[in-house]
Amino acid sequence: YNDADNSISYTTMAKFPPVKLLPNAERKRILVTGGAGFVGSHLVDRLMLLGHEVTVLDNFFTGSRTTVSHWVGHPNFEMVRHDVINPFLIEVDQIYHLACPASPPHYQYNAVKTIKTSFMGTLNMLGLAKRVKARFLITSTSEVYGDPEVHPQTEEYWGHVNPIGIRACYDEGKRVAETLTYGYQRQDGVDVRVARIFNTFGPRMNPYDGRVVSNFIIQALKGEDMTVYGDGSQTRSFQYVHDLVDGLILLMNGPETRPTNIGSSHEFTIKEFAEHVKEIVAKVQKEEGTYKKTAEIIYKDLPQDDPQRRRADTTRAEESLGWKSRWTVA
Ligand code: NAD
Ligand code: UDP
Ligand code: UDP
Repeated sequence: YNDADNSISYTTMAKFPPVKLLPNAERKRILVTGGAGFVGSHLVDRLMLLGHEVTVLDNFFTGSRTTVSHWVGHPNFEMVRHDVINPFLIEVDQIYHLACPASPPHYQYNAVKTIKTSFMGTLNMLGLAKRVKARFLITSTSEVYGDPEVHPQTEEYWGHVNPIGIRACYDEGKRVAETLTYGYQRQDGVDVRVARIFNTFGPRMNPYDGRVVSNFIIQALKGEDMTVYGDGSQTRSFQYVHDLVDGLILLMNGPETRPTNIGSSHEFTIKEFAEHVKEIVAKVQKEEGTYKKTAEIIYKDLPQDDPQRRRADTTRAEESLGWKSRWTVA
């Protein structure tokens, strides 16, 4: 790529995946905070392939440069090391605000920092959206429903969250981030979107992030004990990251401004999920000839405030975005 005479050399560009050539009027300048994380990096890939100009803003707390390094040097791509708790100036058309650690061990590692990230980070990104009149989307979470008394969870449900427990820095952080988001919508006319994401899995998950999907897969692959917390009767529904990225892009570009669940409605108990991972890993290893021994399931204490049940009601996403999940766990 040669900026001076604006010529694009095929050999240099060939190291990048082919991106769509959009007319200027359709090409958007898009900021993705937390773009070096698990979900962010997949979103960045899709936005780049669609032909947009993407700026990643990340402090690399839980993300890594390597998740998006395949775009470094592409003329449509920029990566900035920055902490969202500090103000940031840029001119963009859309902001996907993802920056926030998502796994319980990561967000509990420095609880005060987590809530600062949710509050001050979201405040700054909303201030930015207001100044440059960008559309703003925040990735909220099913955790705003806490340990839910309504099942499956619809967006109308206000939640059941312990405000002082060990998960509060994340759950209450996201709740106040939603409050700020709708405050800026009402007071300043900021154009906002709120995605409430349910448990998501896929490539580039940090294998040591302590979440159930990564723990079980790593333990099963190594033939180590699989750690079920509590009696394993608690439930979760797991969506594949490509379904989530579809939903985020549809939400950003559609008319729905109310909070919208994006998740799977296929519910597993954690015990069933452990059995499932165990069987798949043993089967694949036998086919590959790498099988040594099948992992055993063991039981450990249930962490405080662990939600008992969780399943997405995705009627709103289906009706207002035309979104439908295309992937299942297996
Ligand atoms: P992740 O930890 O992989 O990614 C978060 C990214 O944000 C990382 O790259 C991290 O370095 C960055 N970050 C954290 N604090 C920051 C700060 N103060 N300033 C700048 N960057 C910062 O997590 P993920 O799974 O990709 O989650 C992305 C978003 O989706 C988060 O907002 C999370 O709350 C939300 N979410 C994820 C899930 C899920 O199952 N993965 C479920 C619900 C909601
Ligand atoms: N902000 C930012 N980038 C901008 C505009 C604002 O980071 O381009 C920050 C700003 O520093 C402030 C926050 O966003 O901390 C909220 O801004 P707003 O203008 O709404 O509030 P005020 O600055 O009047 O408190
Ligand atoms: N869990 C488990 N074993 C593990 C990790 C997690 O049994 O090694 C349980 C955890 O207690 C919770 C569920 O799996 O009930 C999902 O946990 P995760 O940390 O993945 O996400 P959460 O939905 O709780 O934020």
